[in-house]
Amino acid sequence: MKSKEIRSTFLEFFKGKEHLVLPSFSLIPQNDPTLLMVGAGMAPLKPYFTGEKTPPKPRVATCQKCVRTPDIERVGRTSRHATFFEMLGNFSFGDYFKEEAILWAWELVTTGYKLPEDKLYVSVYLDDDEAYDIWHKKVGIAPERIFRLGKEDNFWEIGQGPCGPCSEIYYDLGADRGCGRPNCEVGCDCDRFLEVWNLVFTQFNCTESGEYVPLTQKNIDTGAGLERLAVVLQGVNNLFEIDTVRPLLDHFSKVTKTEYGKDQEKDTSLRIITEHLRGISFMVGDGILPGNEGRGYVLRRLLRRAVRHGKILGVGEPFLHNAVNLVVDEYGEFYPELAKGREYIQKVVRLEEERFHETLEQGMKILDELMHKAGPRGVLPGDAAFKLYDTYGFPIDLTKEILAENKLILDEEGYQEALEAQRERARSARGASVFGKDDTDYESLRQLTTEFTGYDSLEAEGEVLA
Ligand code: ATP
Ligand code: MG
Ligand code: MG
Ligand code: MG
Repeated sequence: MKSKEIRSTFLEFFKGKEHLVLPSFSLIPQNDPTLLMVGAGMAPLKPYFTGEKTPPKPRVATCQKCVRTPDIERVGRTSRHATFFEMLGNFSFGDYFKEEAILWAWELVTTGYKLPEDKLYVSVYLDDDEAYDIWHKKVGIAPERIFRLGKEDNFWEIGQGPCGPCSEIYYDLGADRGCGRPNCEVGCDCDRFLEVWNLVFTQFNCTESGEYVPLTQKNIDTGAGLERLAVVLQGVNNLFEIDTVRPLLDHFSKVTKTEYGKDQEKDTSLRIITEHLRGISFMVGDGILPGNEGRGYVLRRLLRRAVRHGKILGVGEPFLHNAVNLVVDEYGEFYPELAKGREYIQKVVRLEEERFHETLEQGMKILDELMHKAGPRGVLPGDAAFKLYDTYGFPIDLTKEILAENKLILDEEGYQEALEAQRERARSARGASVFGKDDTDYESLRQLTTEFTGYDSLEAEGEVLA
């Protein structure tokens, strides 16, 4: 089943269960200063969960663009983590609860997607007997296929506010995909048991004192990774090989003259470039510009990582922007903001790429010398790392990554001290930041694209998919 069909099957299914299908919200959170970027389908719907706003309908379903920066180091190394991915979700705002959520998820997975039951496992939160009983008695899942997992995996909360236990659906990709440890089972962090869908039952309110008070309005919030469903339904190894991502991977394999599947490290580089460029395109398409902090920095970091892995594969000139077309071709139909922004995205990516190539060249030379000086398993002085960042625009994460790859470490304390000292100097000398110039350039570029209107028109109550 193609990704497009996986998406429409999900949305159609829940439309059939009286859900209102809304288009994806922007990756930029609206009116939510606590969030850097939207990382789950529920994030843009928060006001409906807290009761702050009335939802257009008590049942909603979406396919939401998500970015999860904390997963960045895992990209290309696990088969299932991306920084950018699409999350399918159905939501109930004080309407249906556990039983419907579980029965419907199972119905969709086994009859809509036709996944074989003998490959499926589920998890519930430790003491959530209600969910356990629904899975066991109503759905008929054998006890040995139901796992009780702890807070880390199966309880959802972010500080105070609505929270509750989760229940997840896992697909067994087979023993040969596992870590081989005798205790490898559902919940193991290896690639064998793939978590495809998480059902969150927001039934408590976590108070200031940390008490869990039952909510009168119980909610459902679910999230299924579209790429992960595609991995299963398309029988491929990882989410870089699914129908919508593979063309990009093949493209990069060609331009870097790197045959995929021959060398583990090179494959990882190819996957990182592929994944990051896809995310970059979506981020710029949503109006994020490279910068030195917040979202802009996330974007810059993804792009710089992709460029560097390009270098590792021997590409010395800007090459990412040429692949933006492939992302737009693949996703432009469902995400019109991409199609609209095609040229704009290319320009932004190109400009940032060119800039970085210049700094990278200089920075790498210096870092190489520094690492040589530090010797095997040595420590890189913090002020040197800072200078690399401050003078050459060489990002500190990149320095740390390269150090780790070479089994060296950074003198973090020294780095922080140097950073503080610089901040102090900047405070007294206000004005030009290292990247001030870049950012102005991007602003003028944005003005060139008269069509780009951002997301103001995409309020939840607004456009509704047919
Ligand atoms: P994992 O344990 O595999 O890291 P998670 O428990 O962090 O996943 P949830 O927060 O439950 O994920 O998100 C809901 C769903 O979104 C997951 O069940 C999965 O299908 C998908 N998903 C989560 N993180 C990623 C990611 N980095 N890349 C692709 N899909 C993801
Ligand atoms: Mg995770
Ligand atoms: Mg998990
Ligand atoms: Mg989960």
